[in-house]
Amino acid sequence: MASPNRVSVDGAQHLFPCFQRAEVSFTHGEGAWLVGTDGKRYLDFATGIAVTGLGHSHPILVEELHRQGGKLWHVSNAVRIPQQEALARLLCEKTFAQRVFFNNSGAEAVETAIKTARRYQYASGRPERYRVITFEGGFHGRTLATIAAGGRHEYLEGFGPVAPGFDVVPFGDLDALQTACGTETAAILVEPIQGESGIRKHDVAVLQRIREFCDQQDILLIFDEVQTGVGRTGHLFACQAAGVDPDILAAAKGLGNGFPVAACLASEEVGSCMAPGTHGSTFGGNPLAMAIAAKVLKIVSDEAFLITVRDKGRRLLDRLLTIVAEYPGAFSAVRGEGLLLGLRCVPPVKLVVAAAQANGLLTVTAGDNVMRLLPPLILSDAEIEEGLARLRRTAEACRQATSGR
Ligand SMILES: *Cc1c(COP(=O)(O)O)cnc(C)c1O
Repeated sequence: MASPNRVSVDGAQHLFPCFQRAEVSFTHGEGAWLVGTDGKRYLDFATGIAVTGLGHSHPILVEELHRQGGKLWHVSNAVRIPQQEALARLLCEKTFAQRVFFNNSGAEAVETAIKTARRYQYASGRPERYRVITFEGGFHGRTLATIAAGGRHEYLEGFGPVAPGFDVVPFGDLDALQTACGTETAAILVEPIQGESGIRKHDVAVLQRIREFCDQQDILLIFDEVQTGVGRTGHLFACQAAGVDPDILAAAKGLGNGFPVAACLASEEVGSCMAPGTHGSTFGGNPLAMAIAAKVLKIVSDEAFLITVRDKGRRLLDRLLTIVAEYPGAFSAVRGEGLLLGLRCVPPVKLVVAAAQANGLLTVTAGDNVMRLLPPLILSDAEIEEGLARLRRTAEACRQATSGR
């Protein structure tokens, strides 16, 4: 009899080949663990790229999925949706925001943010202001507008004319920012900590200066917190730790713990300019997504929970510093905030991530030869130790591979 874990289909040739997938797949997950179709248990420090922050099969979320799933999934935004109003209210209670629009993915939430910034300028009698300044290394998604916002050549190549209206300046360069800002500038779009390009954090002072600059110029500040948000850094949103409020904020990844849901948050003044008919979404904010995201947010926005995330993040960072010192041939630096951590690798990061996977530890590659460690926020102390042990074995494997060359 075939093992129940066996995956019997093989249809990879029917998929767009745009992902470089690892030769591994999973049957189920429990908390910080994933069980492979090979029967092997993997410690999940990838969390589907900062998504499953509360771990796999969280009992409260599974129960909510069944409860709401048995009642009502979808109705459309042509009617009032109490679950949407409840989640919007919760998000506004916990943040700078007074208005929320719900999307299904990070890129869509960023698109909503960009449209809202442009519309705000238009509604304020400054329709010439449509340009958005972004920082090099930023990642904002894969739609036509968000690849233009990111400005990365590899993501733009072959996709026709670059969507106009984006000015990309060097990372953290405030002089370049001021030079780029003109009479057509509507907003500045920033990831408080760049995730995709290797856990690169803007100094708090830089974020504060950007806020002041936006106020002086009467332009809007948009934070892309798709990766940094929903507790990942040990704060509900990273900007709250910096004490800098944006006018608009995009959230997604961790918000549904794997159920696709995203949100664009805005101040009253900015959000209220999106008059009836200006924007829309078929799926965005449906009752099922809203019910699950509300459960996630209730858990993650609790200050006592966030303190545990900060504690775990600090402990893990300290221990990673020791590993960096012990294995200079494998790792050269560690950085990050909360449980959004990056280990700069000495060998090509792809090899290190593959070695970690072979040692039962799932991680994610990032730019600047950085291996991202994005464990679930519910990680236990024992799981931190287990992760470190697996990381040590990974470093050993890298050392042997290099000395064997
Ligand atoms: C992942 C990510 C996005 C895009 O989110 P999708 O859900 O993949 O569209 C946008 N911005 C940041 C900072 C991200 O990390």
